[in-house]
Amino acid sequence: EILATNLKHSIFSWTKQSGLNPLNIERAKGVYIYERGGKKILDFSSQLMNVNIGHGHPKVTEAVMRQMNEVSYVHPGMITEARGLLGKKLSEISPGSLNRAFFTNGGADAIEHAIKLARMVTGRHKIISLYQSYHGATYGALTAGGDPRGLPHDSQGVPNIVHVENPYFYRDPWHSKTLEECAENAAAHMERIIKYEGPQYVAAILMEGESGSSGCIKYPPGYWKKVKAIADKYGILTICDEVMSGFGRTGKWFGIDHHGVTPDIMCMAKGITSGYIPLGGMMVKEEIIKQFDDKPLPIGLTYSAHAVACAAAKAVIEVYEEENLIENAAKMGAYLDASMVKMREKHPSIGDFRNTGLLGVIELVKNRETKEPMAPWNAAPSEMETMNKVAAKLTELGLFTFVRWNWIFTAPPLCITKEQIDEGLNIISQAISIADQQYK
Ligand code: PLP
Repeated sequence: EILATNLKHSIFSWTKQSGLNPLNIERAKGVYIYERGGKKILDFSSQLMNVNIGHGHPKVTEAVMRQMNEVSYVHPGMITEARGLLGKKLSEISPGSLNRAFFTNGGADAIEHAIKLARMVTGRHKIISLYQSYHGATYGALTAGGDPRGLPHDSQGVPNIVHVENPYFYRDPWHSKTLEECAENAAAHMERIIKYEGPQYVAAILMEGESGSSGCIKYPPGYWKKVKAIADKYGILTICDEVMSGFGRTGKWFGIDHHGVTPDIMCMAKGITSGYIPLGGMMVKEEIIKQFDDKPLPIGLTYSAHAVACAAAKAVIEVYEEENLIENAAKMGAYLDASMVKMREKHPSIGDFRNTGLLGVIELVKNRETKEPMAPWNAAPSEMETMNKVAAKLTELGLFTFVRWNWIFTAPPLCITKEQIDEGLNIISQAISIADQQYK
């Protein structure tokens, strides 16, 4: 009956609507989710890479209940203790003078507001972003991401977004010999495009703090710094999207912390509440928001700074700190990396793997020399036969994660232990054996 009512009366994201058999989840704790009827499933992608503290943490439940008992919602022009404390905490953990938070409902609308703000303060209109990136599903955010999820809406995309190539070392369009060369070539390419577009029209460069669902295409060392230097050279702002890479996911508070750069605007969502309640936001540099000291800032949302969401976020951030989850993410990420070195020896179809803390992916190929992917980028359903079998095996063996084209994502909650990583990798190894049979 639960399945029937869900299928009959709700609509599912990013998928055909008929013939679905979604997991029916009754409860969740730590790194495990439990199907109704009892099957225990290891969550190896923290759901949508957002349940960073793990499932069912009582501290968050208590904070939410306490806030609801006091006050659930007030007009965004009013204040609550939770809003102020959260803003203060975010300014402490954000780099540089990113001291002021504007709260949104999730990631996409944080991006929309960052684009609006950058355009307002520069008086310019173009936004530069990476082809292999995702920034959310509203029109502006979807156009800003170059991920093919946006293509069905392409005819209605927002104007003045310009995409450039990623610094994708494994599949480097410039055939760079080293990571450093790749960073150099990618930055030079970006600057060339900016010059073609007219730097005087470019408001901002928008990039994820670390690449997420478009393939965890790890930025080579120095790349972010080079991008920031280009931005500074032409008076362009930088917007860093930390929606997926933020809140400990990469083993530091934010992905950008690996790159020694302070962006002008930093967008966040997902891990800010670990998915317990929807919330997003953008941190803005003091110098930028000061420009609105004496004139109105024309942005707003009914649920901006929702009291319950702020209380949940504050509790979640305390959990990261009290339970040393960010340190654990760094440690477990290193363990995952080392384990994957061994896995690659066993499985010829593992072409590449990329982990930054617990934001990771395994890339499967038909041949290591040619790097022919096990399923091509943006594969049609007919090209997914092998990868669908790999995905089905993962589900059968009790592991939940994303399988996209030739990628298997590995992004468990930050509270995961070595034993649980071994449990997950053992299942992934069994599933990859199916792909090995297609190795040429
Ligand atoms: N930015 C990045 C990097 C994301 O990964 C996502 C979602 O996956 C978003 C933005 C959009 O966030 P939301 O789905 O909360 O709108």
